[in-house]
Amino acid sequence: MTYRELYEYGRLALEAAGVAESALDARLLLEYICRADRNELLVHGDCERSSMEEQFYRTVIEKRAARVPLQHIVGEQEFMGLRFKVNEHTLIPRQDTEILVEEAMHHLSDGMRILDLCTGSGCILLSLLQYSNECEGVGIDISDKALMIARENAKRLGLEAAFLEGDLFAPLADFVSDKTTDRLFDMIVSNPPYIETAVIGTLMPEVREHEPVLALDGGEDGLYFYRKIVAEAPNHMRKGAHLFFEIGCEQGDAVMSLMREAGLMQVEISKDYAGLDRVVSGVKG
Ligand code: GLN
Repeated sequence: MTYRELYEYGRLALEAAGVAESALDARLLLEYICRADRNELLVHGDCERSSMEEQFYRTVIEKRAARVPLQHIVGEQEFMGLRFKVNEHTLIPRQDTEILVEEAMHHLSDGMRILDLCTGSGCILLSLLQYSNECEGVGIDISDKALMIARENAKRLGLEAAFLEGDLFAPLADFVSDKTTDRLFDMIVSNPPYIETAVIGTLMPEVREHEPVLALDGGEDGLYFYRKIVAEAPNHMRKGAHLFFEIGCEQGDAVMSLMREAGLMQVEISKDYAGLDRVVSGVKG
């Protein structure tokens, strides 16, 4: 089969399976299997491909038709211009989360100490480290399997960060007693699980069946982690330090109230490119 025939087969199979971006995914998978770029497919559409490639393409199309996320098939996702390895143990980095990184970057200076809670693939922390100099980064996650991916991502990017396993701030107790350095952070960032438990079953199959529920479930009202983090964060922040959260688009008021009640100052919301509330930040006075 030619590139064009393979692509048509893939597109139709994905469309029939109800995949939202069937044409895009069929093309990206073809590029992945044939190690080709978009231009190559366009210019050489009539080029006959080997039966081996056809076989591989059919296999990945079947997987995608079974609603395995594209990123789990190709093994990575681009985020902030960087490539992050992902698997079924990590949330796939989302474009919305780039808003959090961009907002944080406005307040990031060289040499700062940054803490990322619920770090997952490490995409937030590692992006901040990539685009700054001599910052010290600590990422915490309760999933050791996610941390394996975060550490691999750090290595792939040539960055150094400490990835600690445990529940929110808990691992810091041992970590800082090991060291003589100041235990306070200049910035805390987090994209915690924030989906209401009852909503998870209604999400698209790619998410509900293939992404880790641990990275999605924010408790009955979705606010479980914001409450826990906000209650403890000020104890770990230097005066003037920033706290940044990604939020679900309807959680802005609730998370702002939590932050104000905890005594944080300059509490504000930033919107995403769809004009929805996406990030809440505050400063320790
Ligand atoms: N911090 C990671 C991300 O933003 C993981 C977040 C999570 O697991 N909820 O992609």
